[in-house]
Amino acid sequence: MRPTEELDTWNDADDEEVLVDLPDAPVRKIAARRRLSPVDALKQYWGYDGFRELQGEAVQAVVEKKDALVILPTGGGKSLCYQVPAACGLGLVLVVSPLIALMDDQVAGAREAGLRAGALHSNADEAEKRRLRDALDRDELDLLYVSPERLSVGDVLGRHAQRLALVAVDEAHCVSHWGHDFRPEYRTLGKLFDQIPDVPRMGLTATATPQVQEDIVQQLQLRRPVRLVGHMDRANLTYRCLQRRDQTAQILDVVRRHPGDGGIVYAQTRKDVERIAETLRGHKVQAAGYHAGMTPAIRAKVQADFVNERLNVVVATIAFGMGIDRSNVRYVIHANAPKSIEHYQQEAGRAGRDGDPAECVLLFSAGDLASHRQMALKDHPAPERLRVLDRHLKDVGRFAVAPVCRHRLLVEHFGQDLTTAPEGCGACDVCLGETTETPAADALLLAQKIISAVWRLGGRFGIAYTIAVLRADGDSRTTDRMTSAGHDQLTVYGLLKTHAEGDLRGWVDQLIVQGFLEIDEEGDYPLLTMTESGKALCKGVGTVRLGVAQGKTARKTKAKADTSAGLADPDKPLFERLRVLRKLMAEDHGVPPYVIFHDATLHLLAAQKPTSLEALQEVKGIGERKAARYGAPVLAVIGGKDPSMAFVPRGA
Ligand code: ADP
Ligand code: ZN
Repeated sequence: MRPTEELDTWNDADDEEVLVDLPDAPVRKIAARRRLSPVDALKQYWGYDGFRELQGEAVQAVVEKKDALVILPTGGGKSLCYQVPAACGLGLVLVVSPLIALMDDQVAGAREAGLRAGALHSNADEAEKRRLRDALDRDELDLLYVSPERLSVGDVLGRHAQRLALVAVDEAHCVSHWGHDFRPEYRTLGKLFDQIPDVPRMGLTATATPQVQEDIVQQLQLRRPVRLVGHMDRANLTYRCLQRRDQTAQILDVVRRHPGDGGIVYAQTRKDVERIAETLRGHKVQAAGYHAGMTPAIRAKVQADFVNERLNVVVATIAFGMGIDRSNVRYVIHANAPKSIEHYQQEAGRAGRDGDPAECVLLFSAGDLASHRQMALKDHPAPERLRVLDRHLKDVGRFAVAPVCRHRLLVEHFGQDLTTAPEGCGACDVCLGETTETPAADALLLAQKIISAVWRLGGRFGIAYTIAVLRADGDSRTTDRMTSAGHDQLTVYGLLKTHAEGDLRGWVDQLIVQGFLEIDEEGDYPLLTMTESGKALCKGVGTVRLGVAQGKTARKTKAKADTSAGLADPDKPLFERLRVLRKLMAEDHGVPPYVIFHDATLHLLAAQKPTSLEALQEVKGIGERKAARYGAPVLAVIGGKDPSMAFVPRGA
């Protein structure tokens, strides 16, 4: 038995405990991993033939003991940038990560690949803690996840420093005030790293704005880092931004396009979450709500059910998702506008991490932006903070209503270019021809009529009433309120009565987003007012663009799958049977199904139908360990056996 002081070191932080997830085979007695080249490690552990954009460069930086800043979009493959060095046998890789759920998922995934991985955080028992401590002492750990708080206790850095091959900081934008998930604990990391000057550092994030990048370099004290900034475009996602007209119908529309698939619906408030989840269930969709007002136990259950594919749809406030690694989420719906483009990129980015096509739909109303602002004002933000917020909201509005390719707008937001074919990206509503832009002269005239109405009404009415006056017909659409206020005498009365209400709402939103109108939230209810540039536009100064969503969804998108492209069509019934087998094996091993095989891997299996273990290992996503562990039942199912017969429980 080791001296007890060592145990005490581990108990320094009372609320922090240790979870160790070593592979369940007896701990091997080897002192260090055999050295492997990065490409060999990639093949052997993950079954992948090549690195994705910039992964190889990131690994090479570690080999050369250089610091690196890695910016890749969600789903871009950041984890492999630090997991491959661990698999190469370079030494222990320490990963600082902000969320326990995320750590656990990553540990499960790394173990499935065959790495000796563990996580140090507050949710585990004494026995597991000891296993991890022993494994560390015996140098039998490749990968260790820690929370930033746990790291500051000092024992890991102090006692195991000489074995460290890398310290990686995941979600590194959390160090930055400019980002959207600022975490004060992250600010202490630079100081801690002073104790390990010889260990290379890697900061990873999906947030690519230059300010955030600079902040990361400074705060983590990266030393002349190799900067690896990947392309932010997610080609396998199809984006749609719709004017919110009938929220329920619009959400159902998307859900029904993806029967039986996993999806996330983001809503703004807890009440919205509960209402939408209830409505979906009323329409026989298997859905559950998730928000911060629910008990931790219920939240954990919803998350586990979703991750383990016992639940298809989660309706959530943004509290949900950061810890979700489920890679086969096929759609993400925003029932309300997000707070910033960074938020959108991250939330929508949870769709299609496996590289297969997925859909992101944003239901937009300009009122969402005003309510985000209202909510933020409750915290009395500093003027500087408020300016940042306003800029973020404006960008969201522009993204949602500008009749411009959504892929392009997103990528440009992150300071990059997107080159598309002349006919567009083929994977957003604008390029798919699901929206139409009003010709410039007509747009100007429409805009002038709408702004004039706001002007004539003195900026003392809301959107709905302003539109009602514009659409009044002297008959059923004319209300007593209008006549008694004398608004039927205005020149703008009934001026746009031939247009649909939804179109008018859309145009008002677009005018707000382009800065010609404004929502004034000061009083009891929001008022629509005119801005200086709105006034100018009425006099013919300035340009305006207006579009209309047709609401019809093109059947074919060209969203590119980055795995199964160019292959024979998978055998659909076989795919479904493999899916059943995967679920049985996942339950048996206590891991989420996608940790065993991605959907993309199942598609490949169903297309290629390998008949031997060797052929099986040629399939992308199947490394040595997975082939050994799951190969036999997979081959049996491909050979025609029923999944429940092919499956052999571990104890059997
Ligand atoms: P991120 O952390 O950047 O969001 P992940 O590390 O979770 O992305 O990777 C996204 C998905 O892509 C994972 O399912 C991972 O297994 C897969 N992936 C990563 N690198 C490769 C690769 N070189 N070849 C094939 N698939 C990969
Ligand atoms: Zn496009």
